[in-house]
Amino acid sequence: MADFEVPELKEYIEVPKYKDGTMAHSSPYIAKEKFQEPLGYPGELIENWEEKAIEKMGELKGKYRSFQVFLDACVKCGACTDKCHYYLGTLDPKNMPVARQDLLRKVYRRYFTFAGKWFPKLVGAVDLDKDVLDEWYSYFHQCSQCRRCSVYCPYGIDTAEISMAAREIMASVGVGQKYCNEIIGKANTIGNNLGLPEPALADTLEGLEEEVEEDTGVAVKFPLDQKGADILLVTPSADFFAEPHVDGLIGYAKVFHEAGASWTISSYASEAANFGMFIGSYENMRRLSLRVRKAAQDLGVKRIVFGECGHAWRVAYSFLNTLAGPFDFLDPNYPVPQHICEYTYDLIQKDKLKFNKTENDHMTLTFHDSCNVARATRMGDKPGGQFDIPRAVIKAACNNYVDMPADTIGEATFCCGGGGGLLTDDLMELRVKGAMPRMQALKTVTDDYGVTNIAAICAICKSQFTKVLPYYGFTMDQIVSVHQLVSDAIVLSDATSDDADDSGEEQE
Ligand code: SF4
Ligand code: SF4
Repeated sequence: MADFEVPELKEYIEVPKYKDGTMAHSSPYIAKEKFQEPLGYPGELIENWEEKAIEKMGELKGKYRSFQVFLDACVKCGACTDKCHYYLGTLDPKNMPVARQDLLRKVYRRYFTFAGKWFPKLVGAVDLDKDVLDEWYSYFHQCSQCRRCSVYCPYGIDTAEISMAAREIMASVGVGQKYCNEIIGKANTIGNNLGLPEPALADTLEGLEEEVEEDTGVAVKFPLDQKGADILLVTPSADFFAEPHVDGLIGYAKVFHEAGASWTISSYASEAANFGMFIGSYENMRRLSLRVRKAAQDLGVKRIVFGECGHAWRVAYSFLNTLAGPFDFLDPNYPVPQHICEYTYDLIQKDKLKFNKTENDHMTLTFHDSCNVARATRMGDKPGGQFDIPRAVIKAACNNYVDMPADTIGEATFCCGGGGGLLTDDLMELRVKGAMPRMQALKTVTDDYGVTNIAAICAICKSQFTKVLPYYGFTMDQIVSVHQLVSDAIVLSDATSDDADDSGEEQE
C-alpha cells in the first residue's frame, strides 16, 4: 500500500533513536508564477534572493517582538526534542523542534547578532545559501504549526511562529508552496478553497434539503445568500460535499432548525479556512478575513457562527476582530465570532434540544482535540472551554464515550499529521508517519475500551484521518464529525415558532 515504511504501533509511545536525514527528500511542490503573483509574491526565485530574504527577516524581526525573542531565548535544554509528532514518526533529528528552529536561527545569528557576524563558527552561524534555502523549504514544510512543542518549552518558544516566518520569507523571494498558494487564490477569487462557484453551491445545498427531508420528513433549510438572516454561518467548504464533513453541516442545519433560527451561508465568503495563516502572511489572512466582514455587512446579519474547522477557528478567534474589525454592526449581545459547538452547547444547557442518544449506540466514541482549537483558542467563558464544550456536545448525543490517554489530549494533544498546509498528496509519507502518535493513542482506547470511532471538529483532521486511518489497520469511516453525532441523535420537533431563537451565548 505504501512505498515507505509505516511506523509500527506499540503499546505506548517510545522516544525513538534518531536516524539522520530520513526525511531530507520530503518537499512539497513549489508554487508556479500564476499562484505566487496574485498573493503579492515574485513568480520565481529572484536574482538577489539572499539579500532580499535577509531584508525580510529583518522586517519580521522588527515587526514581531516574539520572533526575535524566540530566536534569542533558546537555551538548548532539550525539553522539546521528543514532543513533535513528526520527529516521533520519522526519526529525522531535524524534525526535533529545536533543530527545526536552528535551521533559521543559524542564519539569524549570522546576520543579526554581534557574535554571529564576527565569530560565526563559534556560535554555529552560517551564511544563507541555496543549500540552506532548500533545507528550509523541506523542513519548514514538515511542521504543522501545531504548537505542541511550545507547551513543553520552559520559555514558551513557539516553533509554529518560526515556521510561519520562514515560509513567509521564502514566499517573498519567490519560493512559495503550491498547495497553500493555489488554495488562497481560489478563496480570493471564487470564495472557497474548492473553487465551487455560486450555482454549484446552491445546487449542493438544495440537494441537501431534499436529502434531509426524505430522510426525516422535516423541511430543514440550508439557506444561501439570504439577506436579513440573523446568523451568517462560515464553514469549511469540505462541509458542502465530503464525508464525514457534510454530515456535520447537516447537524448544524438541524440545530438551527430546532432553535428556530434564521441563518444563511454566503456564496461570497463560503469558506471558513484561511490558509493565509499557514504561509505566515497576515496580509493574505486579512484579505480573506475581510471577505467574511463584507458578507456579514452585505447580508445584514446580526451574528457570525463558525463551523467545524480548527485553524479557521484560530484565525477567527485570535485575529478576525483585529484584522477585519470592528464588527460594531453586529448584535453586541453575542460573541464575535461564535463557534458552532458553543452555539449548540448553549442550546443544550437551556434544554432546547432533545436527543435520542441510542441512535449512536452502535459506536463508542473518542475525541481528537485539534491543535489549533486546543492550543490557540478558547470556547465559552471558562478556561478549558475548548476541551469541555465539544466533549459536552458529544456526550449529549452519545451514550458511549472514552477519552484517549491524558498525555495525548487537551493541551497535550497530538496533531493529526496533516495540519499547517501539509494536507497534500505530495507529502503523504510525512502525513502518514506524523499521524503515528495519534494512531497509537487511538489504538490504546480501541484495545482497552472497544472504541469504534473518533470524532473531530476540524476539516483538515477529518480529511487527514480519512486518508491515514487505513495505513494503521483502521477504516476510513471511523472518523466522524461532532455535529454528525448531533445530527443522528437530535429529535426534530419541526417547531419553528418566531420566538424560538434565544439561542447562543449572551454576553452579560
Ligand atoms: S509546532 Fe508542532 S509540528 Fe512544528 S515543530 Fe512544534 S510540535 Fe512539531
Ligand atoms: S524546550 Fe525551548 S529552550 Fe529547550 S531546547 Fe526546546 S526550544 Fe530550546
